Amino acid sequence: MSGFRFASLGSGSEGNALVAEVAEGTGVTRLMIDCGFGIRECERRLQRLGLDPGGISGILVTHEHGDHIGGVERVARKHGIPVWMTYGTFVASNLGGIGTYKDALDITVHLIDHHEPFCVGGIEVHPFPVPHDAREPAQFVLSDGARRLGVLTDLGASTPHVEAMLAGADALVLECNHDGEMLQNGPYPARLKARVGGSHGHLDNAQAAALLARVAHAGLSHVLAAHLSRQNNTPALARLALATALGCEADWIGIADQDEGFGWRTLG
Ligand SMILES: [Zn+2]
Ligand SMILES: [Zn+2]
Repeated sequence: MSGFRFASLGSGSEGNALVAEVAEGTGVTRLMIDCGFGIRECERRLQRLGLDPGGISGILVTHEHGDHIGGVERVARKHGIPVWMTYGTFVASNLGGIGTYKDALDITVHLIDHHEPFCVGGIEVHPFPVPHDAREPAQFVLSDGARRLGVLTDLGASTPHVEAMLAGADALVLECNHDGEMLQNGPYPARLKARVGGSHGHLDNAQAAALLARVAHAGLSHVLAAHLSRQNNTPALARLALATALGCEADWIGIADQDEGFGWRTLG
């Protein structure tokens, strides 16, 4: 048995989690990126994908915002799952209320350099830094050694380094947080509009589309829009922006929905 597949438990400001699984021979490595859901909700969503929480090999945490880290400590402790994150994320998250004392925590936390790739079982993890209003945020490219899945949410702007990391990826999960016009005309107070739309906030549909146009290639087999705002975006607008960038049908673009996430996608 061999294969590389991924799915989303849900994505948006109320909680994010994604799972990626690489099977080689009899071994399976299954990593979760972020867990912004509580224990019961996380277990329910995993079950929907046919997974048992005990079968998760590790949790990679992108940054300390609650919609990404909210459930990490409890899920990791209950199911004995090790966690990987940067030092800045660890300190800012104040896991267990113990600040920098990693060794006093009753879950295993591996501190990572977000420029240094590492392996967990059969999955190569390539972290990279992004501009976002968190202490030391990272996003991830996951690989089985041949195929690559890029996951990118929570950044105010693309950078040459972000695009170098995502170039050639076989699958992309890409933040389409808001439509610029809907955000400006929407219900958020001016300060929040400035934060969300700012250089360390979130990507809008047009920014995501421009990024996608720069990293797209003939082998790109999955593109999914993620972290959509319920107030300031619609799936149709996100799909249209990304499809226009690729010159494909809007239906080909997937959506990581807040409630439903998306079902398993297979690479290769
Ligand atoms: Zn977020
Ligand atoms: Zn964030």
